[in-house]
Amino acid sequence: MTAPASPASFRPAKRLGAIGVSEILKIGAVAQRLKREGRPVIVLGAGEPDFDTPDHVKYAAERAIRAGQTKYTILDGSMELKAAIAEKFRRENRLDYAADEITAGAGAKQVIHNAFMATLSPGDEVILAAPYWTSYADMVKIADGTPADVLCHEDNGFRLDADDLERAITPRTRWLLLNSPSNPTGAAYSEAQLRPILDVLKRHPHVWLIADDIYEHLIYDDMPFVTAAALEPSQKSRTLTVNGVSKAYAMTGWRVGYGGGPRELIAAMAVVQSQSTTNPSSVSQAAAIAALTGPQDVLIERRAAFQRRRDLVVDTLNRIDGVSCRRPEGAFYTYASCAGLIGRRTAAGSIIDSDGAFCRYLLEHHDVAVVPGSCFGLAPHFRLSYATSEQNLREALKRIAKACRELS
Ligand code: PMP
Repeated sequence: MTAPASPASFRPAKRLGAIGVSEILKIGAVAQRLKREGRPVIVLGAGEPDFDTPDHVKYAAERAIRAGQTKYTILDGSMELKAAIAEKFRRENRLDYAADEITAGAGAKQVIHNAFMATLSPGDEVILAAPYWTSYADMVKIADGTPADVLCHEDNGFRLDADDLERAITPRTRWLLLNSPSNPTGAAYSEAQLRPILDVLKRHPHVWLIADDIYEHLIYDDMPFVTAAALEPSQKSRTLTVNGVSKAYAMTGWRVGYGGGPRELIAAMAVVQSQSTTNPSSVSQAAAIAALTGPQDVLIERRAAFQRRRDLVVDTLNRIDGVSCRRPEGAFYTYASCAGLIGRRTAAGSIIDSDGAFCRYLLEHHDVAVVPGSCFGLAPHFRLSYATSEQNLREALKRIAKACRELS
């Protein structure tokens, strides 16, 4: 008989070596500790709407359970869910996808993961427009790919510049991943802003595009949402259009995301999913069908609430000496610069020498948790999520203003 494995003999896979614990999780852990100690910490780090899942969606899930929809479904989504997704793509994006051009997984995250696992070999590159959602780089690495960051400058509205993209493309580039509206900057692309990027991709047909449209419905000031495959039909055969119910319908916990793309890619992604999780939860699929096909007025109400909060946050931050904040087009994040605070001194005598130091100071001395821009690849900034009540936001902004006033 062999001895039971001791913890000392645990050996993680090589591919995990390159993946660290995210700074966001570390800040979250400190915030939780302070809360346990009784401190009134306000956490503005959430990547999920504070609203509840709509009732008609919950009822659909209950009905599905009672009707016995509790078994395996087709592994990348039931025909009913794929029909609802196809209808959504037609209705909202003017995109036609057949059932075998549609995949559903446990969140947009799994859909992107499947795409990387299905297409990347060691040495293959994925261009990421920084600052970006921190998971992207690690998702590329876990699929043995190499992330290639291209910086999006604030004076270009945090949007990817077409010339910078052109320069970053190599023979090993497999994908460009574009996220509009963006986590963490809230930047979104208009037709005119997306067009030059698609022109570059047209000249490099070996580079495919993932359009991460998860924040599609959180776009403000009546800005029309555009997605690449609809804007440029010749791009559709080289694009995976990714979306999901998490952000639009406040359904982060249900874990349903989906994608539309060329059937060869979709079939390869199904192979990956077939040997990992199989179908997304049958009950969650029923809920997602209700969300996609049911009344859509909730999207409009919530968008209006988010827009009010965005304006409150941007206007208040811009009144703080040392902070400046671009008004984002979408999502529920602001990405403010704290460059004007660098070099200042706290009352306790320490120097704010980075956005990380500023965020630690805010959390440890003023009970507000935000995420340093350095986590996302562009500093000195901080990301503030306004997916929380207006009351919480007002109190947090008051504390941030006070924290900045106390620096000298
Ligand atoms: N893309 C972006 C840019 C995100 O911010 C998130 C969630 N934080 C996701 C995808 C994943 O969403 P889902 O819950 O559908 O997996």
